[in-house]
Amino acid sequence: MELIDTHCHLDLQEHFQRFEAELARAHAAGVKTIILPGVVQAGWKRLLQLCNCSQGVFGAPGLHPLYLAYHHPHHLQELQELVSANGSQRAVAIGEIGLDYYPENVDRTAQQELFEQQLQIAATARLPILLHVRKAHDQVLATIRRKHFTQGGIVHAFSGSYQQACAYIKLGFGIGICGTITYDRAQKIRKIAAQLPQESLVLETDAPDIPLAGHRGESNHPQFLPEVLETLASLRKEPGEVTAGYTCANARRILNLAD
Ligand SMILES: [Zn+2]
Repeated sequence: MELIDTHCHLDLQEHFQRFEAELARAHAAGVKTIILPGVVQAGWKRLLQLCNCSQGVFGAPGLHPLYLAYHHPHHLQELQELVSANGSQRAVAIGEIGLDYYPENVDRTAQQELFEQQLQIAATARLPILLHVRKAHDQVLATIRRKHFTQGGIVHAFSGSYQQACAYIKLGFGIGICGTITYDRAQKIRKIAAQLPQESLVLETDAPDIPLAGHRGESNHPQFLPEVLETLASLRKEPGEVTAGYTCANARRILNLAD
């Protein structure tokens, strides 16, 4: 059985001091492919270097909506050059980008502008996107439609409604299922994960964030992805191998990864 962690911050050295050891433990647990999303420009170089020298590790550089203070206009220029450069460091997606209205007093105008600029870079480079969205799904959906963005991508750690999930799927997006579903109290997302069509689901840990039930107080690791898989399989009342099979196929299709 093989799994793909479509959203994992294994490149962040303040959380993962020993990348190779972490990767080896993930591999031993069946997690053979890991997507590293970007957060700030300062992290892109290491992220893409790790992709270059580790099999099954792919990068998605981008500017996260919550770190506006770290972003500068010339980072967008750099992102554009990075994704249009031909070479082994080529990114598989742009991420993580989107809108986050969860904290109070965020600059929604600046977030929107940053999101639209990166959407344009992804469209030009014909790359999918990794979306980070909290309390702003309708705004993100409206932006994707208005901009006629057709490359699709993954809505990471999906937290919206069933209707919103269906709207993303119609626009060519996969729905990222993370450790939130391992909590009994997360009834809404558990129900949605059980109902969505097979072709839309992909797995992720978002390590070091989103600790799983049974691992509270511990930071999250990609090697725990099989626990997300087992929970999803049991919610959908199907064997784990079946869930593993289609979630991997979906991630490969959406991110254009070779088999
Ligand atoms: Zn993330």
